[in-house]
Amino acid sequence: MPETDRVFADRITDVPRSFIREILKVALDPGVISFAGGLPNRSLFPVAALKAATENVLGGQAADVLQYAGSEGYQPLREFIAARYRQTRGLDIPVDNILVTNGSQQGLDLLGKTLLNDGDGVVIEEPGYLGAIQAFSLYRPIFRPVSVSSSGMNVEQLRSAMFAHRPKLIYTVPNFQNPSGVSYPEDNRHEVAEAVAGTGALLIEDDPYGDLRFSGRPGSSFKSLLPEQTVMLGSFSKCIVPGLRLGWIVAPDDLLDKLVTVKQATDLHTSHFTQSIVHRYLADNDLDEHVGIITDTYGRQCQAMQRGIREHFPPDVACTEPEGGMFLWAALPEDLAAVDLFDLAVAEKVVFVPGDPFYVDGRRSNAMRLNFSCADEATIEIGMQRLGGAISKLLAAPQGDRESGRG
Ligand code: PMP
Repeated sequence: MPETDRVFADRITDVPRSFIREILKVALDPGVISFAGGLPNRSLFPVAALKAATENVLGGQAADVLQYAGSEGYQPLREFIAARYRQTRGLDIPVDNILVTNGSQQGLDLLGKTLLNDGDGVVIEEPGYLGAIQAFSLYRPIFRPVSVSSSGMNVEQLRSAMFAHRPKLIYTVPNFQNPSGVSYPEDNRHEVAEAVAGTGALLIEDDPYGDLRFSGRPGSSFKSLLPEQTVMLGSFSKCIVPGLRLGWIVAPDDLLDKLVTVKQATDLHTSHFTQSIVHRYLADNDLDEHVGIITDTYGRQCQAMQRGIREHFPPDVACTEPEGGMFLWAALPEDLAAVDLFDLAVAEKVVFVPGDPFYVDGRRSNAMRLNFSCADEATIEIGMQRLGGAISKLLAAPQGDRESGRG
């Protein structure tokens, strides 16, 4: 072992590096059209309203919001979150079961820290959210991948994983999943809940995109289908702004109690200042109206991307049909690798994320994640044209060139 490695804890050795960060470097070239990011559209950030909320908060009892505060979170914000669950999902969530976190990403870390021992089983969606794979990896679980498609989570695979490995956690993003954009159909949600019921496992329902629906009808929350075993994660990142880092966990009493202890040990509490700003913003503005502006924009951009795929991609490229969220998943014919397309796409000045990092087995994926939240419709049209050109070049390349990555 090289001497410098000795300083690192064992737990960091298994954690995958964010491949996406490397791709984003290419995307910094202003001539490149990027479908690689996972960012909400910055032109829709409610900057003026947040400025007014900040001034209001600082103009009032400023010292209070700048003081240390309780670990569970700012009470009025927790009450807002509970009321919104009631109003938009028909869920009755006691305020005491809500813990405010630094984004839902911290929720994933706190859950890992609280629940996972080395070698515990974690069912992860395949393809799955890279940030969850990364967060849980620090606690050295054994991932049990279960595939997800437009039919939802593969229940047969889930049942056999439950039976063979008795996983402690089942991680799901049932609405407009990252990376695929798919939502679990209603009957699939019931089947998943049935497979998990009574097993002692906890199901994590990570729902940062749930509000961003531009078509179709919402499915039942796992919280309503599997109330005792579901932990929900929520976030203000996609419907207000990500930079204030505000999310939350909804957990049963005993788990929430432990999570509060772990939260204290991690960072004492989420910033009282940013919680107060967001609470003020929510009190003075209509969140649904703002979300409506986001979903109108994302819906149009998603349609532009689907149109571009139909018009410029070869017909054997299959893609998902998201009803919301920020991503679409396009699969090349099975013998092709999306990483081989990447260099060709960079040459055409367009980038995407190859599917590989979204699988825990490190496979060469034939699929790509395409983000539609950031580029406007005209830019999407040009980007799809360029990407279609790159795909045609890959398809025309001799087999050997493709496999060596030169194709
Ligand atoms: N879960 C999923 C599925 C996500 O896509 C993201 C952000 N990309 C997060 C959690 C983390 O979001 P945040 O910490 O900003 O709430």
